[in-house]
Amino acid sequence: MAKQNSKKYMGILSKVIGKYDSISGSDYDYWCPFCKDDDQGHLHVNFYKGKALCHRCGYAAGSLKKLLQDLRIDLSEVEEYVEKIPAIGKFIKDLWKAEKKRKAGVITLPDEYNVLRVRAKDLMSKMYLGYLRRYRGLSIDEISSIPIGYCSEGRYAGRLVFPTYMFGKLVYFTTRAVLTGKPKSLHPENTDKNYILYGVDWLESTNHIFLVEGVFDTFAFRNKSLAVFGHSLSHEHVAILRKLRAKEITVCFDADVPVAQITRLCKFIAENTESTVSFMQLDTGDPFDNRHTIQRFIDRRIIYNQRQSLHNQLKELFVD
Ligand SMILES: [Zn+2]
Repeated sequence: MAKQNSKKYMGILSKVIGKYDSISGSDYDYWCPFCKDDDQGHLHVNFYKGKALCHRCGYAAGSLKKLLQDLRIDLSEVEEYVEKIPAIGKFIKDLWKAEKKRKAGVITLPDEYNVLRVRAKDLMSKMYLGYLRRYRGLSIDEISSIPIGYCSEGRYAGRLVFPTYMFGKLVYFTTRAVLTGKPKSLHPENTDKNYILYGVDWLESTNHIFLVEGVFDTFAFRNKSLAVFGHSLSHEHVAILRKLRAKEITVCFDADVPVAQITRLCKFIAENTESTVSFMQLDTGDPFDNRHTIQRFIDRRIIYNQRQSLHNQLKELFVD
């Protein structure tokens, strides 16, 4: 976390939850906004490491972005997100402007949404954590790396909720049934998913981007992947990929998606971006199931279209 960004984060945080009231070591201690009102502990925020933790209620965030998103702070106004990847900054801004003109419905999290705290002691949180840790095999570190919540009442009762942010703005959320039956996933209706790519806010670089089908699959590649919520790719998705200017884009869908469909996707991406396009073939299951041995599949990925460097293209032109 760059130092100049820490100051911005500190400024935003102070505005929303008040000024820190003490400093211990490299931790800034704020009154914890996730604790119950009558039993508030301290939220220790380390701006340098980008971590936050409350021992009282167990709230933990592995990044400052997650903390701000859990506090439902709209980061779209914060310049550093735009500065970070200048090529898409303007594009995304234009996208939101177009959205506003269309008066698209604003997405908000369900009223019953609770932030899942990784060290929470209440029964409900423990059940969801049990699902993520024992059934899904996720580590505490993985769980606290992205915003995750749950609902105990309402339309999404008994479900884990995964908010989707793009440049700090909530654009969508999807849910996963845990204490309830079908359908497996339930999400807001009438949302245009065509331009939604899960994980844009967590991309650590645009060198090599892995394209996956859903939230859980992004755990296989952590901060190097984007999920499309399904296995089709829209023109808007590809437009975002083009603007990201990735050196390489690798499609990694579930093993049961036919190769013919994958190569069609690769063709679509290759025709519309400047990136090298490749795909991975898993033997069984999805990227999440294979996440502990994913490097083996990355090494064996198949290059669909090698994008030549400009230097080589020029050389070819002048060879007689
Ligand atoms: Zn707390």
